[in-house]
Amino acid sequence: MKAAWWMAGVPFSCQPNCGRCCDEPGGIVYLSTNDAERIAAHHEMEVEAWLERDCRQTMDGRYVLQSRPSDDVCIYLDGEKRCSIYQVRPQQCAAFPWWSENLATERAWKEVKETCPGLTAEDAIMIEGEVIRIHVFADRESSKGFRTWPPWNRRK
Ligand code: SF4
Repeated sequence: MKAAWWMAGVPFSCQPNCGRCCDEPGGIVYLSTNDAERIAAHHEMEVEAWLERDCRQTMDGRYVLQSRPSDDVCIYLDGEKRCSIYQVRPQQCAAFPWWSENLATERAWKEVKETCPGLTAEDAIMIEGEVIRIHVFADRESSKGFRTWPPWNRRK
């Protein structure tokens, strides 16, 4: 089978004080179970309490981060357009721009290149295909999400 085009590596360097990928009204951040445990611990909260305070559930029941009612942008993006939980940010955020949907077609990738300056930056460094693949899997896992907590406590 032919390897994905990005397996040859892609130049990228996330730009300081950019935040364009987060500053998107209506953006949805899906969460993995690991994200929930990590971010709740960062806030010194039980996972259930953190889910109740900072998350909501989509129509199909998956937990996602809440957005601010004022502008529909992630509640964790601060006034300087920085992520206030950067060290423990959701893996889907850390995986950007290496999302399956971005890499799937030339058109989608062209659009991402137009919005993410890190992909055309002078200081971009070559990101190896294996590293990109890890992010692609992380994004896919997050997109599956979870609907109950604890996640093994599923209703029949
Ligand atoms: S849009 Fe690109 S360069 Fe800007 S913060 Fe997001 S990943 Fe980094």
